[in-house]
Amino acid sequence: MIMIANLTNPPYATLPSDLHAALPLTEFPDAKFFELNDALRREFSLILDPSSEIAVKTLSGQLSGHSGALLAMAYAGHQFGQYAPRLGDGRAMLIGDVTDQSGLAHELHLKGSGLTPFSRGGDGKATLGAAVREYLISEAMAGLGVATSRSLAILTTGETIIRETPKPGAILARTARSHLRVGTFQYARANHDTETLRALADFAIERLDPELMDAGEDRYAQMLNRVAERQAELIAQWMSFGFIHGVMNTDNMTLSGETIDYGPCAFMDDFHPARVFSSIDYYGRYAWNKQAEIGLWNLSRLAEAILPLFANGEDDQIKAAEIALKDYPDRFKAAWTGAIGRKLGLPSGDQNAFITATLTAFMEAKVDFTRVFTALTRHAGGGDQSAVIAEFETPEQGKTWLAQWEAVTGGRDALSEDTKAAMRTVNPVRIARNHQVEAAIEAAEAGDKAPFEALLLALETPFEEDSRFEAFEAAPQPDEVVHQTFCGT
Ligand code: AMP
Ligand code: MG
Repeated sequence: MIMIANLTNPPYATLPSDLHAALPLTEFPDAKFFELNDALRREFSLILDPSSEIAVKTLSGQLSGHSGALLAMAYAGHQFGQYAPRLGDGRAMLIGDVTDQSGLAHELHLKGSGLTPFSRGGDGKATLGAAVREYLISEAMAGLGVATSRSLAILTTGETIIRETPKPGAILARTARSHLRVGTFQYARANHDTETLRALADFAIERLDPELMDAGEDRYAQMLNRVAERQAELIAQWMSFGFIHGVMNTDNMTLSGETIDYGPCAFMDDFHPARVFSSIDYYGRYAWNKQAEIGLWNLSRLAEAILPLFANGEDDQIKAAEIALKDYPDRFKAAWTGAIGRKLGLPSGDQNAFITATLTAFMEAKVDFTRVFTALTRHAGGGDQSAVIAEFETPEQGKTWLAQWEAVTGGRDALSEDTKAAMRTVNPVRIARNHQVEAAIEAAEAGDKAPFEALLLALETPFEEDSRFEAFEAAPQPDEVVHQTFCGT
């Protein structure tokens, strides 16, 4: 059989068939590459020539890259708090496993590859705009050092997709260590016996935390604890970059601690702790400052789902789950205060009062959450303080805050070289701003790929000063501000 070297059968296919559905090969006769992530291609030692028919067919699901079937994963999930018993990959398929340079396995998934048994009322397709959006933002996250699914390629399908208006269709090929979600376990718990649930949990442990296989019956509680630890760190990182995931449903929260599902997400421009972007998040459930709390709510759903795997007796099981999750608030707080402390160049010790005052000042003065830290980093490195002050709505607000910062840090001359260097590694000069992402999408859909390419290049090295990319540092003009982003686009 003709296949792409190093793309192997997805191990997920070995799990009980109740947890997935086999899919036939797709038909996309006009599929072609729009973009190939060459660095990622090399990371996985994949031979993928965009002009080759095998590459096109494999990454559009028209050819199985190995001996096994293509499959859709089954999952349930709480969407905005409402339980949906059967979600699953309605427009995605798992096509194989690839191995990175350090020997770790990653799943290769296609999004927008057509109908599956989980499509419900949907068409199983994705627009080029949605694929461009996910590609740009996931690669921006990777550039920032945030755990995320990665984008390997976009293929246009040549189809016209009906949304509010006709749109060009596309398939995004993405990778992640694992696409297991909280919702995968909710589905297994609700529909299957304990042995299926155990097989799923053991699969997760072997994939993500193999050393826990030696922990006997306690391994499930330890797995929960690890998942919680990864999420605490992930969410703190999101927040430190002003990132709002936007749709933290339990079906969009991974066990691996990778960010997935770039629908209604956004990096904030001007700071407000209660900011949301999702057009359907009416109550601010997934606002910037709610994300840690929602993370714990989702983890509690995971705990409930795997409870039967814990030690005997319901009371003991609940106790074990509580113990597994009890570290989460402190871990989040430590990760968050550590991250914001590094961004501000703060000395060690309890800086909670100053952090709280800073966020209030930033909110009141409507500062841009990226630019203010960039200006502070430049000031710490010898730049003028006026650039920091200029980020505040009024000079008085800027001067007042800067005076507080100087009181806490001793001013820039008191900062160690290590502190200044650390600021440069956590304060990006460029983020994937919504208005720029939207401009890249609009151009791509109209056949002009240049803005996508330029933005992508600028986001690969977000911490490096680079005058070529200065235009991407700008906050949106009032008429450019994007207030809402949409899921399922
Ligand atoms: P998401 O909002 O992307 O997390 O998707 C939630 C659920 O809706 C998942 O089960 C998706 O597979 C499904 N879904 C989203 N868009 C489509 C579509 N165009 N066709 C079929 N299913 C979809
Ligand atoms: Mg999803």
